[in-house]
Amino acid sequence: MRIRNGDDVQVINGDDNGKIGKIKSVNIKSKRVVIEGMNLVVKHLKPSQKNPKGGRIQMEASIASSNVLPICKNKSCAKHNKGVRVKMKILNNSEKIRACVKCDHEISNNE
Ligand SMILES: [Zn+2]
Repeated sequence: MRIRNGDDVQVINGDDNGKIGKIKSVNIKSKRVVIEGMNLVVKHLKPSQKNPKGGRIQMEASIASSNVLPICKNKSCAKHNKGVRVKMKILNNSEKIRACVKCDHEISNNE
């Protein structure tokens, strides 16, 4: 999977198509991701001791990782700030990085 925690991604399918958000969590097993403020659902809580009346909270539901693309942050890239396909690139020190297919710029989430 080429999506990591903290990545800025663009959704390319479904209700949030075209929106950009930050990855909150990644589930490698189910290949699903949770994005901040995206795909909101209302969850009904059963009454409990702490919360005797029960209630409703809004939370993000996961979406399939195949529906999101990391964003290219290279300002001179044709796809700047848009979701891009990602390839793996091996550096001289044999470190593997993710790079934009269009411009070869590293996809990184600590910029
Ligand atoms: Zn690019």
